[in-house]
Amino acid sequence: MKAFQVNAPHDFKVAEVEVPTPAAGEVLVRVAFAGICGSDMHIIHGDNAFVRFPRITGHEFSGVVEALGEGVPDVSVGDRVCVDPVISCGTCYPCRINRPNVCSALEVIGVHRNGGFEEFVSVPAANVHQVPEHISLDAAALVEPYTIAANVLDRMQPHRGDRLLILGAGMIGMTILQMARAMGIDEIIVTDVIDERLAAAKELGATHVLNSRTQDVEKEILALTEGEGVPLIADAACVPALLPQMLRLASPAGRIGLLGFSVQPSDLIQLEVIKKELTLVGSRLNNRKFPEVLALMASGKLDPLALVSHRLPLSEMPDAIDMLDHRPEEARKVLIQISA
Ligand SMILES: [Zn+2]
Ligand SMILES: [Zn+2]
Repeated sequence: MKAFQVNAPHDFKVAEVEVPTPAAGEVLVRVAFAGICGSDMHIIHGDNAFVRFPRITGHEFSGVVEALGEGVPDVSVGDRVCVDPVISCGTCYPCRINRPNVCSALEVIGVHRNGGFEEFVSVPAANVHQVPEHISLDAAALVEPYTIAANVLDRMQPHRGDRLLILGAGMIGMTILQMARAMGIDEIIVTDVIDERLAAAKELGATHVLNSRTQDVEKEILALTEGEGVPLIADAACVPALLPQMLRLASPAGRIGLLGFSVQPSDLIQLEVIKKELTLVGSRLNNRKFPEVLALMASGKLDPLALVSHRLPLSEMPDAIDMLDHRPEEARKVLIQISA
């Protein structure tokens, strides 16, 4: 079968590999669609410290169950599924307090073991979620990105009526925007440096959009909030230098959700955190958010296909990488169509 394999940073190709055999407790999935994510690009560029090479990447995918390993009672051949990439040990401290997405022995499908950019992938049956009949498999491949959004919003503990500021209108920002609206957050401010992205955010329901290159974001946001600041700030721009501004823009008792993987330090003025009693939370992957996202998708409250800009065959994956490297503004979610 064909697979997109990364042999080392900057060394990747579509290769012929063996079809995996599902071990006990695993299921073999015939992949339908797999989305390319920023973190796949980090692996390709050698910016992911966790990955082991060679690796077939891809952690956002859907498909149809093709075969079962031993001891898999709850899944059947032919089931339409999407796959939670988080594999946890169940016994370490974070697992014991129900935080399996930061398990001490965390394994991520597509990072620590092979993922969805191949015709068949074997995954633990426990990670498989049934896709309701009326959700298409291309939409189902986008469940994982929405779980990132659901997770950071959960970590920020929204209260009824809270305003939300989203920094960055790329894919993560857009999924947070849709998820926040689906959860009943009405007033959402989105900032970015690209006007086209801001226009798209407006279309998807942002109440205010600000271009941080051409507008004075701090002045505008303080005016919009009667000087109070914003209780919920989601950092989907992931630029370390923005943290001091987030501290200034947060309202007293505000919560700031961080998603960036940068190793660059950020300036942090303790007084800003203390005087307003701010909460800074990290959010990694997702903590069992697949059922919630699938339910919202089934109810029509999310619009995943609005985020898809390209559908390409696996053979064109290297071209897709080239586009995302050199012309990222041309793309939103790139879906690789594998067997559907
Ligand atoms: Zn991702
Ligand atoms: Zn664990």
